[in-house]
Amino acid sequence: MIKYLHIGIDDTDSPDGMCTTYLASQIINKFGDNGIELVEFPRLIRLNPFARHKTRGNGGVALKILNDSKSSLAREIVLNEVKKLSMFDCDNTNPGVVFYQGDITHEMEEYAFRAIYEFITIDEAEKFAKSFGCEIHKFKKGRGIIGAIASISLPLTDYTYELLVYRAPENFATPRQIDYESVYEMDKATFPDTFENIDYSQNYIAIEPKTPCPVLYGIRSNTCEVLKKAKSIVKVSEPVDDFCIFKTNQHTDMHIQYVSKISDMKQFGCYCFSGEVKSKPKIIDGGHMFFGIGDESGEIECGAYEPTKNFRKTVSHLRPGDIIKVYGGIGVQNTFNIEKFQVIELNDIEYKNPVCECGKRMTSAGKNKGFKCKNCGSKIESDEKFPVKISRNLKNGWFYETPVSARRHLSKPLCRMDLD
Ligand code: ATP
Repeated sequence: MIKYLHIGIDDTDSPDGMCTTYLASQIINKFGDNGIELVEFPRLIRLNPFARHKTRGNGGVALKILNDSKSSLAREIVLNEVKKLSMFDCDNTNPGVVFYQGDITHEMEEYAFRAIYEFITIDEAEKFAKSFGCEIHKFKKGRGIIGAIASISLPLTDYTYELLVYRAPENFATPRQIDYESVYEMDKATFPDTFENIDYSQNYIAIEPKTPCPVLYGIRSNTCEVLKKAKSIVKVSEPVDDFCIFKTNQHTDMHIQYVSKISDMKQFGCYCFSGEVKSKPKIIDGGHMFFGIGDESGEIECGAYEPTKNFRKTVSHLRPGDIIKVYGGIGVQNTFNIEKFQVIELNDIEYKNPVCECGKRMTSAGKNKGFKCKNCGSKIESDEKFPVKISRNLKNGWFYETPVSARRHLSKPLCRMDLD
């Protein structure tokens, strides 16, 4: 008898409500009522951030149980809950459920990474599921099977946890009653074991969703132990219906593919590459900031968009000739949206006009006409400028990242990176 039953679920929610993690927590409760136990933490797996049909963060959920005499009851519970709770009225909600008995194969792992890096069609996912004996259940178009297969298959070499606290159904879609002071307290007591709690640059409480979903708040962490402490500190003045801790690939940079040249990148992929800043960052209408970056294979426009707020100020300090390593993805406009960058080498040399004997900096006397001094009238014929070392607001070797409020679910924050 095959030891484990893997269950994958995706695409059950809509912008008007629900959340696949909430559905999973309801299933886990029903499992508990029937003596069915999970053998691992439930998983929340974030997939390609550019997927066209995502509701919000492109997340799928997976559960793993023993494949014993209760596994057919478990399947029944899962399908019933999906039928009961999915937002079927929304055109864009196309739930998919998969059941798989057995070990995760290398091909399944490869598929999961493809679901993070590329786009997969429903047909492709269905054919793949059949090729390894995975049972699929499609509701409406059943697009959810794409993410459901990936959610059971992704190897979690690096991982984090998320505690999701759920609201009582009668309070769904009403303003959340969270004591913000207690969130600051919780962050102070548990950071960096927990992270992404608050965006201090804007006093933005990141643990609180801004959508009508059943989540009251979510706390992200490196260990599950710290979540108990964090939960005990956060105060709310509305009933808590339930909570659940998920093991996730959030904040692991799993979406990033490391490439050695710009020409190796494709639209809708996320990458890390090094290049030379080719143009001075400029802000355009709408408050987005752009600059060019290049290597021997080509050039690409990099963008720090308006929601990245103060990060644009940091980006504005870059200048042509700087060598940087950037992390991010190529979006709809074909520009590279920066998530973070590391300064490899700053160009701290500026070529300046010569200084006159009288002590004033000279000005150009016209093209190929040398320089003149506006103070004493002296002239020199040479057009040669002189290198001057300038001070910079950025530091060699340092990383700079977007603020919490503008960070992708998959982006690894600097507090999780091994930086010496
Ligand atoms: P939430 O985060 O609130 O749970 P969501 O943003 O995860 O919502 P879904 O409702 O799950 O959005 O919709 C995402 C859809 O995209 C799912 O049907 C999923 O199967 C599909 N999908 C996931 N990854 C890919 C991919 N790489 N290519 C094509 N489709 C994908």
